[in-house]
Amino acid sequence: MSIKFSNYEKCPICGKVDFLKNHKCDPIWETFVEDEDDTEKWTKIYACGPQEAACKRAEDLDQYDHCVLETGPIEIIVRKDKDSPAFYFNCSAEAEVVYYADLIDERDI
Ligand SMILES: [Zn+2]
Repeated sequence: MSIKFSNYEKCPICGKVDFLKNHKCDPIWETFVEDEDDTEKWTKIYACGPQEAACKRAEDLDQYDHCVLETGPIEIIVRKDKDSPAFYFNCSAEAEVVYYADLIDERDI
């Protein structure tokens, strides 16, 4: 049995790379970061739960305007909607060491 990789694509709604034939978007969570968001306009994130939403928001911040990796932990508040309880997360990041081996030559010894 073969797998059709052509169905493994990025969802145009949530952005997750998945088998779109069976894909269902994760629920939307609202996130808030002091100095980044307007208190009336929280940033929406697709995630399976509040903790993943906080991590994804931290990752988004690192990609655009705020570097969690360099500045250290940041508080991210997550809620389902404005009538739901809020979860407060202390989000941090660490760099992963990646080793590379670039072939420079091949010869008989
Ligand atoms: Zn989706």
